[in-house]
Amino acid sequence: MEGSIVENTVYAPLLEQDSILLAVSEGCSYGKCAFCDFANDQYRVFPLEWVEKNASYLATEAGEKTSLFLLGQNSLSLPSSHLLKILEFVKFYFPKVDRVSMYARAEDINAKSEHDLSLLRDRGLSSLHIGLESGSDEVLSLMNKGITAAELLAACQKLDALALAYHFTIIGGLGGKRFSAIHREKTAELLNRLKPASIWQLKLFIWPNTPLAKMRDRGDFIELSPLEVLMEERDLIAKLELEDCLFIDTTVLNQYTIMGRLPETKASLISTMDRLIESSGP
Ligand code: SF4
Repeated sequence: MEGSIVENTVYAPLLEQDSILLAVSEGCSYGKCAFCDFANDQYRVFPLEWVEKNASYLATEAGEKTSLFLLGQNSLSLPSSHLLKILEFVKFYFPKVDRVSMYARAEDINAKSEHDLSLLRDRGLSSLHIGLESGSDEVLSLMNKGITAAELLAACQKLDALALAYHFTIIGGLGGKRFSAIHREKTAELLNRLKPASIWQLKLFIWPNTPLAKMRDRGDFIELSPLEVLMEERDLIAKLELEDCLFIDTTVLNQYTIMGRLPETKASLISTMDRLIESSGP
């Protein structure tokens, strides 16, 4: 693995694939989402001495890299004092780095004071990656995300006010057949009230032994086909009215990537998706 002496699998956002990866925690402090395959992994925060030792090791390989990602499923859950110390290490060991980001849950953003978030920003934190997944309370509740659309909205508006950038992941087909329409409608509605720097649509994968797999096996969750996911995504993009946002999906029909900046490429993204839908139809 690049950039860390942790032996486990690395989970970092697509946009951070060229970033230095500095592990600061492992597992998720929440760990209850119905679809998540590592929800049961033990959550642990790495000691500061360990993080510093790792940073000094990574500094020898950082080269000209200017971005760094703090690895951990929701590192913003760490105490602010702990994160500020880590940002000091980043400044000391990686003088060329001018972009630092990490994963965050909306509840952790809401739990931090504006003062603490400003301090983190002033010491180098530039953006957060948030698993939005859906803007629908029905879907968020079905998936046991532990957060509502209103709380997501409040968290991101707090970031907007502090000029901290944020990136979202959303999950195509997360509402299954029953909630597909509301997932699309409410996700578009929430996104249109926010200013994400990017949206990365992920494919729903139902991992064995997850609560979602049990729901599916009981017949309580009916998956969308790849074509139905694409149709849902196409209609979602058509509803987006964002000002400057990169949209990416690397799993279209399980084989294509679509990517474009909104709003400039909205029409061409939609026409590409329409062509794919037409050529994949019955
Ligand atoms: S917040 Fe993210 S990492 Fe944690 S359980 Fe949910 S999906 Fe998994």
